[in-house]
Amino acid sequence: MIELKDLNITKAHQALSSGQYLVKDLVDAYVDSINSKSEINAIRNLHTDIDEQTKVAQTRFTEGKANLLTGIPIIIKDNLLRKDQLVGASSKMLEGYRAVYSATVIDRLRDAGAIILASANCDEFAMGGSTENSAYGVTKNPIDTSRVPGGSSGGSAAAVAADMSLVSLGTDTGGSIRQPAAFCGLVGLKPTYGAVSRYGAIAMGSSLDQIGPFAKNVEDAKIVFDCISGLDAKDSTTEEGVQDTIDDNVKKIGIPFDFVNKEGVDSEVLENFNQTVEKLKSAGYEIVDISLPYLHYALSVYYILMPAEVSSNLARYDGIRYGLNVSAKDGIASYEKSRATGFGKEVRRRILLGTYILSHGYYDSYYNKANMVKEKIKTEYEQAFKNVSVILTPTTPTTAFKIGEKSNDPLAMYLADIFTVPANIAGVPAISIPSGLDKDGLPFGVQFVAPHHAENRLFKVASDLQNLLQ
Ligand code: GLN
Repeated sequence: MIELKDLNITKAHQALSSGQYLVKDLVDAYVDSINSKSEINAIRNLHTDIDEQTKVAQTRFTEGKANLLTGIPIIIKDNLLRKDQLVGASSKMLEGYRAVYSATVIDRLRDAGAIILASANCDEFAMGGSTENSAYGVTKNPIDTSRVPGGSSGGSAAAVAADMSLVSLGTDTGGSIRQPAAFCGLVGLKPTYGAVSRYGAIAMGSSLDQIGPFAKNVEDAKIVFDCISGLDAKDSTTEEGVQDTIDDNVKKIGIPFDFVNKEGVDSEVLENFNQTVEKLKSAGYEIVDISLPYLHYALSVYYILMPAEVSSNLARYDGIRYGLNVSAKDGIASYEKSRATGFGKEVRRRILLGTYILSHGYYDSYYNKANMVKEKIKTEYEQAFKNVSVILTPTTPTTAFKIGEKSNDPLAMYLADIFTVPANIAGVPAISIPSGLDKDGLPFGVQFVAPHHAENRLFKVASDLQNLLQ
């Protein structure tokens, strides 16, 4: 029996290298875990070639060609393409679709010898914060199954929290990696926009989307990030990240206290946040109160830019070239019926919002204005980072909420993104780290934000905090 609970990539690699167990033993342990925990509903589809992947990885060990990720079981969100495997963004629109090519991140993980076990449930087309918008039922939070795991990458988070894989991939457009990481007690990284190729990720809001890892600790998140990041000819927005060298400046943490002490943020969350700040102080970190007035507009900007991009990205699912086809009396009727049947309520809501925002006469007043504020937010971060090296806030205003608690109140759900959305707007990297448990045993998370391509700073300060909290 392999003890999965305390396993991490380095430990698994050592065990595989020394022959303590075989890749197959490790893979079987995780697949058994997937099969025995189906009530969590974290998984959409097991991949069909696990045995072949396992054999190839084992050969690498035998030939002495294994690296840290060889043989490591990984689960991917159901919006990342892997050739010949089912992928559907947890939508009826794509039911039965098999990818005809693989995402760059998948190619890179496979090149390293990692084993892709399965796809994970998510909110339909990544729109949501609870996985309640999946067409295939909600994923349950493994820590308390009456609660949501967060979203939209809720299945990816629940899978790692329930030891169905060692690490997983999600996508983050407004918080969909960091928020479920916080709700499930994991580390979640949203990389710099352009640090990781989006080629082969089903697009939601293309100017905001990034792929990133979930892991049980900072080191594992870094190992996955190092593998999947870097320039890719297939995504022209990628850049080679020039990582900053960590200097003494990393000891200075900025906190926008007026933004953090907002109405609607749970008192327990604030208490945990303040305790975390005290710990950092006692470890020699300097805390600076910073003011970021434009941050208050980030959520409004997000809920204009994102639906606008959603409405154009999802226009391709017309039931003719892409997606579910429902036949009707003529082409237009079939188009309407296909989209009305294939898309769920939240997706349709955002397509409608986005279409309105981009319509003649409103384009200037909404879309262009939101883009102008986006630039202000970016500049504000740049200014702040002249004085501090990272910025700290809670990741979410509450801990994991009950299934059904917010599903009929889209505005309440949108407000849950208040702390995560600004990093997507500015394109800067952000990481969520577990910071303790509330009175019901539910995890809190805090979030560090750094300048573009300063992921190394995030890893440094996050692992310091991880050590402090151990
Ligand atoms: N919860 C946010 C939303 O509903 C974030 C989604 C995401 O990052 N994919 O849009």
